Amino acid sequence: MGLSRRLALLTAVMAVLLVLAATELSTYLSEEERLDDYRGESIALAESWAALLEHGAPTGDAAAVQAALARWPAERLARTQAVVFATTPAGLIAIGRSPRADPVTPTANDSAALAAEHTTVWRGSGRSVPWEVAAVLGDPHPWGILRVTVSTRRLEDWTSRERRRAYLFAFASAILVATGVGVLTSRWVARPLALLGRTMARAHGGVESAPSARLMGPEEFRGLARRYNELRDALVARERESDARAALLALEERARGYDRLALAEQTATEFAHEIGTPLNTVRGHLQLLRDDLRAAGDQPELERVQLVLAQVDRVAAIVRARLGARAWPAPALRVTDLTAVAQRILQFLDPSLGQAGLSATLEETVPALASCDPALVEQVLLNLLKNAIEALTPGGRVVIRTGADAEQAWLEVADTGPGLAAQARQHLFEPFATTKEGAGTGLGLAVSRRLARASGGDLVHVPSARGTVWRLTLPVGEPHD
Ligand code: ADP
Ligand code: MG
Repeated sequence: MGLSRRLALLTAVMAVLLVLAATELSTYLSEEERLDDYRGESIALAESWAALLEHGAPTGDAAAVQAALARWPAERLARTQAVVFATTPAGLIAIGRSPRADPVTPTANDSAALAAEHTTVWRGSGRSVPWEVAAVLGDPHPWGILRVTVSTRRLEDWTSRERRRAYLFAFASAILVATGVGVLTSRWVARPLALLGRTMARAHGGVESAPSARLMGPEEFRGLARRYNELRDALVARERESDARAALLALEERARGYDRLALAEQTATEFAHEIGTPLNTVRGHLQLLRDDLRAAGDQPELERVQLVLAQVDRVAAIVRARLGARAWPAPALRVTDLTAVAQRILQFLDPSLGQAGLSATLEETVPALASCDPALVEQVLLNLLKNAIEALTPGGRVVIRTGADAEQAWLEVADTGPGLAAQARQHLFEPFATTKEGAGTGLGLAVSRRLARASGGDLVHVPSARGTVWRLTLPVGEPHD
């Protein structure tokens, strides 16, 4: 049961109890007062009528007594009746009574009054009879007793009517008071409380978007709402502070990444210097081998050597660029068919794949034209395929998909490996983040993404149910006529 209903019910019960108690008390007090009044009135009535009867029947003549009693005022405020007892040798005997008086017999009280020769009052014995009065008749020689009985029946009727009215009034006022209390508590207490509750509930979704509590109702609730608003403001301030701190941390992290990249570039330069010389030797030998094969007309071997030579040339170009400009070679943009590049690289990696017991397929063979440096695509694809080969166990598969729409061309590499480890996922594309300990450099993905972005594209990890999927996007290339 809600607060306002409880209060309404309680007030109703209290109102009923209070009104009833007050009614009972005042009825009791006025009854007592009236009883006292009746006593006085009864004595006065008995004595005045005794004098009247003594005058009308000085000797106690029965006919005269009855005649006098005929004028007895039976119905006053209370109902009264009178009986006259006369002394006879056989004791007290009733010789007359007022109209509508009940027949009564003399009691010890009557005899005592007669013996004492003065008016006696005692509490009545019958129902609704508070007082009985015995007045002595005959002076100086008493000859009898006038017994007066006063009935409070009317008073009781009146009291019970009053009581009924009071009960009715009690219930009516209880309903009125309960309604009033219910309405006021729901207005002053329940409504502001419910509003405050709803406002607080909305703060669950985030304090910043939560509304301030409206100040309404009595001062206590306004104070509560004010305190809630202060709390909310403090929380918002704290949340903003922690957001700012998180942003700072991210910035620091990024700066660290740049530092590591710079370090990597320095190391790469040193490597390039070391690699440059043997590479040139390898290149020279390969060129000689190519010339020999061409002279011998050995076409398949020639093609293979040419493929290797092209890759060595590319590495040599990178090394040269690194040593010369201390930067990556500027991309030479041209329309490049991603599908063709993928075909070429798959052919190049065929021996490595076969050795590892893996299969790699190109799903689409339609051209996917991008505007980019083909060397870049080769390098990114090599990095991705190298990672896939390292992640897969014999029997594993790699699928390459290519495609293009109005804005961009794309190339996807999907493998059936174990997927990204939690640590790799956490530091994705960060330089030097590797799970391969001594065997990995953690540079493949970082460099690939940098190259893709430098060409106006991107490299992203595509969430998948199984294995790992990478997607390289590049600006679309318009075909030449
Ligand atoms: P490296 O391979 O030299 O460690 P990369 O930048 O190429 O560095 O890759 C970073 C990490 O990403 C790897 O150490 C590996 O944990 C994870 N990773 C990359 N490609 C895959 C893949 N195809 N399957 C599972 N994990 C991969
Ligand atoms: Mg790698």
